[in-house]
Parts: sequence; structure tokens; C-alpha cells
Amino acid sequence: MKADPFAQLKLLDVQELDARTDLLRHQLRTLPELAEIDQLTAARRDLDDQARDARIAVDDLTVEQRKVDADVEQVRTRRERDQQRMDQGLVSNPKDLQRMQQEMESLQRRITSLEDDELEVMERLEEAQQTLDGLIAQLAETDARLTALSTARDEKTAGLQESLGEVARQRDPMVTDLPGDLLALYDRLREAKGGVGAALLRARRCEGCNLDIDNAELAQIRSAPSDAVVRCEECSRILVRTSESGL
Ligand SMILES: [Zn+2]
Repeated sequence: MKADPFAQLKLLDVQELDARTDLLRHQLRTLPELAEIDQLTAARRDLDDQARDARIAVDDLTVEQRKVDADVEQVRTRRERDQQRMDQGLVSNPKDLQRMQQEMESLQRRITSLEDDELEVMERLEEAQQTLDGLIAQLAETDARLTALSTARDEKTAGLQESLGEVARQRDPMVTDLPGDLLALYDRLREAKGGVGAALLRARRCEGCNLDIDNAELAQIRSAPSDAVVRCEECSRILVRTSESGL
């Protein structure tokens, strides 16, 4: 392949811009915020599940507490009514009186037992509420962090996109002047060779693979016409010759 030496030199400038584009795209893909956002989003899902369970526990215990409160209230009312009847002397028959006495003792035992239940439910409710409050606080903290991370991600992304646009604006007029076959070869090599299709031959070394060119190859390169497109024997990238090549 043949190409004007100036076009070959220009290819190095294109290569530099393309390396910059690759770097910027890599930075876009690997913003540290992205990994943290993924991590936090997963953690938030877990927290949300836990909060939902905790809310159910609080609701259930609230219902349980109302029920046990109502039960206590009902038994107390009944005992008070019995007490009043006795106080008012409405029960005079000794047999009835004894039965009533027994009933009141039984009611008192029931009240004590229900009050124990009441206390236990209250403690469990308090605990469940604390768990729920803690989870809600953690969720709020996570959301605040996620918002901050998203803002940082968006700002960095916008900056990188702007730089990418700038590089593209520089590259476009550069490549329109380049011969199509040279550019096609370069693109193919860039694709196959980790992003570097053209390299400078500097001080007898290929800057694509960083290997020294042996003397026999150097002699060939030296004798090649200036418009010949030279390739590195080691990495097959396009080797661009300049005054720094050491030929
Ligand atoms: Zn090479």
C-alpha cells in the first residue's frame, strides 16, 4: 500500500485522538459512581424488603395490642359491675355471694394475665417500631447518598461527553483528508490490536509493540520509498516514519 507521507503523519494524530476517545469511553463506562450506585441500589432493595416486613410486624402488633387492651377493658368493666352489685347489697343470698366472690377472683386472675399479655405486646411493638424506624432512617440515608451519587455521575458523564464531542470535532476534518484504503487498514488494525493501529517508529523501536526493529528489517524500511506504508514485522501495525525514527 502507498500513502502520502503527510497522510501517514496525520494518521498518528488521528491515532492520538482515537486513543483519547477510547480513554474517555473507558472512563464513562467505569465511573466509580456507577459501581457504588449498583451496590447501593441492591442494598436499598434489601432494606426496602426488611422495612416492609417490619411495617407488617408493627401493624400486626398494633392490632394485637388494641385487642388485648379491649379484652382487659371488658373484664375490668365486668368486675366493676360485679363489685358495684355487691357494694349495693344487691346480692344477699350467701350462696350467690360466694359464687360472685369466686367469679371476682377469677376475673382478677384474668385481668392480671391479660395485663401481662398487654405488657408483652407493648414491648414487642416498641421493639418492632424501633426496628422499623431504624430501617426508615437507613433508607433515607441511602436515598440521599444515591441522589448525591447520581448527581456526581451525571456531571461527570456530561463532562466526558463534552470532551468526546470535542475530540470528534477535531477528528472529523482530519480523516476526510486521509486516503480511504489507509484509513480502512488503520481501522481494521485498531480493532484487532487493542486500539492502536498506527505507531511511530522512534529510535528504531515500534511504539505500537515497543519492540526494537532488527537490522535487516530496518534496512528494508530505510530503502522503502517515503510513500510506502510500512508495517511492523512483530505486531503488523502501520509504522510511521519521522526524523526521530533513527533510520
Ligand atoms: Zn510493533
